[in-house]
Amino acid sequence: MCGVFGIRGHPDAASLTHLGLYSLQHRGQESAGIVAVGDDGTARNLRAMGLVSDKFSPESIAALTGSTAIGHTRYSTTGSSTIENAQPVLARFRDGHIALAHNGNLTNSSELRFELEDQGSIFASTMDSEVIVHRMARSRSAAPEEKLADALRGVEGAYSAVVLAGDTLLAARDPRGWRPLVMGRLNGAVIFASETCALDIVGATFEREIEPGEIVAVDASGIRSSRPFPGVESRKCVFEYVYFARPDSRIFGGSVDRARRELGRQLAREAPAPGADLVFSVPDSSNSAALGYAEESGLRLELALIRNHYVGRTFLQPTQAGRDAKVKVKYNAVREVLDGKSVVMVDDSIVRGTTTRGLVAMVRGAGAREVHLRVSSPPITGPCYYGIDTPTREELIAANFTVPEITRKLGVDSLGYLSLDGMLRAVPGGPAGFCHACFSGDYPTPPPTDPVKLRLGK
Ligand code: 5GP
Ligand code: SF4
Ligand code: MG
Repeated sequence: MCGVFGIRGHPDAASLTHLGLYSLQHRGQESAGIVAVGDDGTARNLRAMGLVSDKFSPESIAALTGSTAIGHTRYSTTGSSTIENAQPVLARFRDGHIALAHNGNLTNSSELRFELEDQGSIFASTMDSEVIVHRMARSRSAAPEEKLADALRGVEGAYSAVVLAGDTLLAARDPRGWRPLVMGRLNGAVIFASETCALDIVGATFEREIEPGEIVAVDASGIRSSRPFPGVESRKCVFEYVYFARPDSRIFGGSVDRARRELGRQLAREAPAPGADLVFSVPDSSNSAALGYAEESGLRLELALIRNHYVGRTFLQPTQAGRDAKVKVKYNAVREVLDGKSVVMVDDSIVRGTTTRGLVAMVRGAGAREVHLRVSSPPITGPCYYGIDTPTREELIAANFTVPEITRKLGVDSLGYLSLDGMLRAVPGGPAGFCHACFSGDYPTPPPTDPVKLRLGK
């Protein structure tokens, strides 16, 4: 997953982009970058592996002069975790430069890349996003938004992207609208961002969402909107409401906080826990859902797990032993809250089950008498091809085991998941118009082709 930010018409464009990226850090912690266009028309970029707060000095931001900039925080889905794959992508071609920051995942990028390479294109990264830049450079259209539309015609899958072509700032959202993208204003400046929390941090006001299938161009003559693609039914990612977006954001026309609370309330209606003494969240991602569960069930909300906020992704260990240790470094249980109690632990989702199993053991170790796990989304039974970094089917616990089996494996007294219908009715604007493929198997596009198989002609 990724976060994107773009601004045009402000003398501090790069430093505001830097600020915006702070509030989009949850969307990707692997790398971050900024490209700014100076008043002389020169594009300058700054990219680094790691966190926004660690990697950019005030001097390096100050060197990015100009009133137009875009930025990106990255969590890799396609392409490995290297600096070559950090975004924004910046390329120079016959008409100047193109810079692109992309959130989402293209499902036919292997085919598109193969086609371009066949015609002699050379790629600097292994990212799916780079094909969009190549296709833009090849377009013979004059207007930047037409170049972008030419590039995106034939591209399948998810993209919410901000693009710089010369000093024109562009924003584009795929016709199904998988990923959020909002537009705001700061005095005379126009801003695009993945979530409204990035508008708040720079003091901008929310104007509207970029609609699915829309391209917006901002240049010296003003703002132009176009809809160059045929209309299709929207497939906003329901997992953005469940887990990914920040609760202080508004996306897809609704509040993430309200969505999560309603998910928690619906969960309490569908999977009550009679006889339990209290409810707690697995901080921070399920805080709002646990509040909703507490409100609906009448159970007292407690803080039973404390999360260490200083554990970065650098601690991510690939081995099972490392993962178990990671749970203990990241969380600890409060014995005074749990000892002798029958408790409801609310989490937003179970992916592999590894963290959850460690947490359940920790909660029992702190004296809990009974542990009733409630999950504010349905079982995840398939991978995501549209930009969320869920693992392969083999690693997904709910793709391989039944609910009673998962109950035993996690060591809980009872396990209740939210139903698919319940989830879709709880989110703002539901139940139609959402992607729920990883829960339901109802994929809106064919799965992406394996690039190796494609190359071997299989
Ligand atoms: P598990 O028990 O499956 O190992 O971990 C479940 C936890 O992972 C939940 O607390 C949930 O909030 C979190 N989670 C859900 N989706 C993602 C994701 O895409 N990335 C990361 N890092 N955590 C996730
Ligand atoms: Fe979101 Fe799941 Fe659809 Fe991926 S498959 S876009 S995570 S709902
Ligand atoms: Mg969590």
